[in-house]
Amino acid sequence: MFLFLSYYTLFFRFIIFLLFLSRPCFPARILPDKSTVITVDAHNATWHEFKRLLDAGKGSHVSGMSELKTYFHRFGYLPISDTNFTDSFDTQLESAVVLYQKNLGLSVTGKLDSDTISTIMSPRCGMSDNAHALHTTRRFVYFNGKPRWLHTTPMTLTYAFSPDNMIDYMSISEIRSVFKRAFSRWASVIPVNFTETENYLSANIRIGFYRGDHGDGEPFDGVLGVLAHAFSPENGRLHLDAAETWTVDFNSVKSKVAVDLESVATHEIGHVLGLAHTSVKEAVMYPSLSPRTKKVDLKIDDVEGVQALYGSNPNFKFSSLLESENSSNHAIGLQRTFSSWTISLAMVFLLLVLHT
Ligand SMILES: [Zn+2]
Ligand SMILES: [Zn+2]
Repeated sequence: MFLFLSYYTLFFRFIIFLLFLSRPCFPARILPDKSTVITVDAHNATWHEFKRLLDAGKGSHVSGMSELKTYFHRFGYLPISDTNFTDSFDTQLESAVVLYQKNLGLSVTGKLDSDTISTIMSPRCGMSDNAHALHTTRRFVYFNGKPRWLHTTPMTLTYAFSPDNMIDYMSISEIRSVFKRAFSRWASVIPVNFTETENYLSANIRIGFYRGDHGDGEPFDGVLGVLAHAFSPENGRLHLDAAETWTVDFNSVKSKVAVDLESVATHEIGHVLGLAHTSVKEAVMYPSLSPRTKKVDLKIDDVEGVQALYGSNPNFKFSSLLESENSSNHAIGLQRTFSSWTISLAMVFLLLVLHT
């Protein structure tokens, strides 16, 4: 009897151990990447004060809620502008939160839960999210009217850097090579060539770094907050906030608020071509980007979106993109398989022990 109990205890402990190993099988929800919230310098973070609104829901009254309404109005979630927004979490704000959560690929709770607040506080693109989806099964989005460049095929678009609006801590050759790589990513999937030109005024795409109010009705806001914006076709303006700590290499720049220039350039070129914001978090066209994060590879959502506007580059193979996305998911898949296997084994042991 004593021996049986020892075996029983041993089996039980083994099962507990297996269950412990299997934990990754039950991620009730993926925890948000809190790095933005934690690492951002409080004095520099434009939307840091929204932290105090955490867990607020309909009926709440919290000081600072009116600024959140201004934020939602700015990015296309509150249709009417009101200079006297109140601090009450009303029905209209709840609808805005729900729409925001849908657009940003978050759990739709209608409340300012930690995922939502964390995403709201993340630095982001200045373009509004209010463009309408023209389809229901895909998640990439176009601007209203689905504008695109209408040059003849094969299409060549020229780009140039503003001679008067650059940053002095990064060399022009470094900036040029960043944009060359960013343009080439889009060029590899659509039949469009991008060539740099010296003639800024006549270039199709005009790139510059600007500070604060710079005359286009979309003032920049200093460190973090809005990082950049671009205009839909065939406008061609691509503006970056000169107040950011732009970088090409996080190893040489230690600042907590450093922003990867190539990631933002790739995103803004997507706007220049006619793509609006997607709800796919991994995609380049997702509106927010944490500091010290690199996101430059086009995902299936980005590629499908831009190819629906311009067609496919004859040299582009969708299978290679699928392979690269699959291989990045492979490790997660293996972990899940292992977890499922350990769960099954634990259940078999449990049944055997109970049967005995
Ligand atoms: Zn954007
Ligand atoms: Zn601008």
